[in-house]
Amino acid sequence: MSVFSLREVVTYGASQLTESDSAKLDAELLLLHVLKQTRTFLFTHSDTELSQEQYLQFTQLLERRKQGEPVAYIIGQTGFWDLTIKVSPATLIPRGDTESLMDYIVEHFNPKNVLDLGTGTGALALATAKEYPQASVVAVDVIEEAVALAKENAKLNKVTNVEILQSDWFALVPKRRFDLIVSNPPYIDANDHHLGEGDVRYEPKSALVAERHGLADIEKICNQALSFLTEDGCLMVEHGYDQGPHVRAIFSQSGFSNIETHQDLAGRDRFTLGYYPFS
Ligand code: GLN
Repeated sequence: MSVFSLREVVTYGASQLTESDSAKLDAELLLLHVLKQTRTFLFTHSDTELSQEQYLQFTQLLERRKQGEPVAYIIGQTGFWDLTIKVSPATLIPRGDTESLMDYIVEHFNPKNVLDLGTGTGALALATAKEYPQASVVAVDVIEEAVALAKENAKLNKVTNVEILQSDWFALVPKRRFDLIVSNPPYIDANDHHLGEGDVRYEPKSALVAERHGLADIEKICNQALSFLTEDGCLMVEHGYDQGPHVRAIFSQSGFSNIETHQDLAGRDRFTLGYYPFS
């Protein structure tokens, strides 16, 4: 059997992943998982040859990816902000889109008490807690496995200023006030064709789909958030690119002031925020 260099294996892997829009990166990540190395290794060792055992492992992972399984689930982790986040099929895979909320937070706020609703892997809560070591962060999720995973991710990233609890939105959130509440709730309509394509096919529906054209959970959050916000507090909610006007209407009906929708790096509406109303 012939031997292949890392460069050749990446090229071959990428050529096989015709359905993926990140074929080369996918092949690299799968190979690095087999090699137990970080990305720079590929650039410094591109002529190194793979052992037959490693090649076999790589082709098995490649086959799973060809079937459509997300890379993050195959290798068990992804990156979010400056954190390594373990993922499992019980939670959504953190996305670059959600980092646009982090970009906004670090540019505009200096929060002391933060609440993350529907934390999943813990990505938003942990990134915020790490950015603001003096802040105290509470993160909740209704799914028990998500709570366990978020706790694991806190340990893995050595984040200690976060408390992770099981709660259905605000139901069991400690009765105190937060100056920043963030959430990436489910917001996709059950009939959206997007649910039949790409990585989302493997992700839990409970983290993706909401009733009332995807807006039901955003409504629930907005309806209760004011009783958990300080008087200068802000609620930030991620949503779909075409939901901005609907989400602003929900914020407005719930009594928020200074409501604004902001865009992700691709220039699409991605999150809306609103402040505690002026008295
Ligand atoms: N942004 C994700 C997607 O469209 C969905 C995330 C969510 O529902 N919270 O794939």
